Amino acid sequence: MAPNPTPRSSPAGPPAPRRAGRPPSPPARRSDTAPPDPAELAAKARLVHERLCAVYGCPIGYFHDLDPLSELVSSLLSHRTRNADSGRAFQALRSRFADWAALVAAPTDEVERLIHGVRWPEQKAPRIQAVLARVAQRTGGLDLGFLAAMEPAAARAWLEELPGVGPKTSAAVLSFSTLRMPALPVDSHHHRVAARLGLIAPDLAVGPSHPVLRAQLPEAWSAQDLYDNHEVLMLHGQKVCHHRRPACGRCTLADLCPSAFRVA
Ligand code: SF4
Repeated sequence: MAPNPTPRSSPAGPPAPRRAGRPPSPPARRSDTAPPDPAELAAKARLVHERLCAVYGCPIGYFHDLDPLSELVSSLLSHRTRNADSGRAFQALRSRFADWAALVAAPTDEVERLIHGVRWPEQKAPRIQAVLARVAQRTGGLDLGFLAAMEPAAARAWLEELPGVGPKTSAAVLSFSTLRMPALPVDSHHHRVAARLGLIAPDLAVGPSHPVLRAQLPEAWSAQDLYDNHEVLMLHGQKVCHHRRPACGRCTLADLCPSAFRVA
C-alpha cells in the first residue's frame, strides 16, 4: 500500500498559522437532528405493526359490542380510569336506568354515586348528562346510528363538537362500537410506546398525536386493521413497554427503538 502523503498530524514543528479571511465553517449538523422523514416513519410504523401483530395475534377480537351512544358513555367513563372500574360504573348505570333518557333526567348526584369508582365522578356525572342532552338536542333523539352513513372524518368532527369529546373519544366511538368504522384511538399506553419508538415527538400530547399516527398508516386500512394497530401498541405498553422499567430485553422492537435500554 502507498504511504499516506498527508498525515493528520506531525510529531514535530509548530502548527501552521491560520489563514486570514473567512472564519472556519461550523461543523455540519448531525443527520440525527434533522426532522424525521415521513416515508421512513411510515415504513417503521408498518414494521412495528407487523412485529407486534405476530406477537399478540392479529386480527384481535373486539372487546365491546355496544351501540355508538353506549360506547360514547363508556368512553367518557373510562378517561384516566382502570377498565374494570369504568366497566363496573357503566353496568351500574345500565342497571339503574331503563334507557339513556332516564339518565339525563336523573338527579346528577345520583349519577355521581353510581359511578363513584371512576376517577373524577363529580365531573363525569354532569358531563355525561350534558353530552346526552346535547345529542338529543341536535338529533331529536338518543341514537348515534346515523354516523354510519357519514365519512369517518365527518363523523368524528360531529362527535368532537359535543362538550368534552376529543379525538380519543371520537375514535373510540367509531372503532369500538358496532359502527366498526375506520379510526385510530390513541390511549396513554399506545402514546408512550409510539413516543419511545420515535414515531412521534416526545413532547407531542395524546390529542395531537392522533392525526400524526393515523397518517403513518395506509389510508386504505380497514377498521379492523386500525383497531389491531391500536390494540397491539396498547397491549405492548401494558405487557412490555411499561411506564417504568420497560422490559427491553424481551421486546421484539428493541432493534428499532432509540429508547431501548435507556428508560429507567
Ligand atoms: S425497546 Fe424498550 S423502550 Fe423500546 S419499545 Fe421496546 S420495551 Fe419500549
